[in-house]
Amino acid sequence: MGPKPFIDLGGEVIVNAAVKVDKSSKLITVKTGEQFGYDKLVFATGSVPVIPKFIPGHELQNVFYIKKSYPYIHNLTSKIAALRNIVVVGGGFIDADAVILAIGYLANSRLAKETGLELNRYGDIHVDNYGRTTVKDISAVGDCAQTFGFLTGRSDNIKLASTATAEARTLGHNIFGIRIKKCISATLGVFSTEVNGLAMAGAGANESSAEEANVEFISAKFSSPDRHPGTLKGTSNLTVKLYASPLDGSILGGEAWGGKSVGEIINIISMAIQKSITVYELVSFQIGTHPLLTSSPVNNPIIRAAEEIIHKIMHNQKARSHGTEPKQLADKEF
Ligand SMILES: Cc1cc2nc3c(=O)[nH]c(=O)nc-3n(C[C@H](O)[C@H](O)[C@H](O)COP(=O)(O)OP(=O)(O)OC[C@H]3O[C@@H](n4cnc5c(N)ncnc54)[C@H](O)[C@@H]3O)c2cc1C
Repeated sequence: MGPKPFIDLGGEVIVNAAVKVDKSSKLITVKTGEQFGYDKLVFATGSVPVIPKFIPGHELQNVFYIKKSYPYIHNLTSKIAALRNIVVVGGGFIDADAVILAIGYLANSRLAKETGLELNRYGDIHVDNYGRTTVKDISAVGDCAQTFGFLTGRSDNIKLASTATAEARTLGHNIFGIRIKKCISATLGVFSTEVNGLAMAGAGANESSAEEANVEFISAKFSSPDRHPGTLKGTSNLTVKLYASPLDGSILGGEAWGGKSVGEIINIISMAIQKSITVYELVSFQIGTHPLLTSSPVNNPIIRAAEEIIHKIMHNQKARSHGTEPKQLADKEF
């Protein structure tokens, strides 16, 4: 994002590397030696790729990391263009021309530590719901700042651009005093990607994260074409899987896969999780449909997956009222 909107508002942009922060005199020293004073300071130093220093050869030529640097990625692309055998780590025991390690990111928080800011066990800068660190007038947002799990409230380390911008927006509103209350108390984690034309997305709890956190859930999935009729050109099959609490039916998580509509379908599910919408409310979820744009009004996969969960909850209640342990109902294929 360019700095123009900031400059238009009267801001001045200085491109340099901050090497030292003196929090008592409120002075920043940059690489070229100049010093700048501040009233409020925001750490947005991002993250750096995990480098597995315990693996011999992690620094060999043709071992690459996915660094957030255009020249580095450009160089990587041109270097591997002529190579045939490329290992993406996780690919097993294979004799290669180049290795690409993409095994996660850690907060770029060395300067924050040297400044005396508190870090959590992942090395992320400790912040409150408004992005404020433990030091007065210093805040942190984005990949370098800590996040908390949406369901568990446990220390988490979600590093996403969507999360970073939400944090930056709320900090912008609250940096000179809390104006919008209870901004980001926990981070949901909404992911989407596309591989070979298949879009895939997830929000909140899924099977493994819910089991790991010992969260009870009922899940159901529903598939339907994302146009109607499904014979229309450009139609993809859209599948939605929802996870809900078996007690009150509130949506805990969701997954979606199929065509490009997945990118926004997961954002609807994210809203449902954030607002604790239940499967019972989704039955009357008011939607707009159009043959060329959406699934059929009778087969909206979010609503139909919610209905499947209601069916499963009722099935379980019925079995228990008869004194039997309910049998797990399999997902129906539609
Ligand atoms: C390959 C890849 C794909 C991704 N895809 C997605 C996606 O599809 N969706 C999504 O939501 N997220 C995605 N992400 C994650 C996303 O890029 C990050 O969450 C986001 O960039 C975080 O923004 P940030 O501003 O916190 O940090 P960064 O983007 O890391 O920016 C930090 C900046 O601070 C600068 N800096 C660091 N130290 C100093 C210093 N001492 N002085 C001055 N400047 C300093 C750095 O040079 C950098 O410009 C992806 C990441 C990668 C690597």
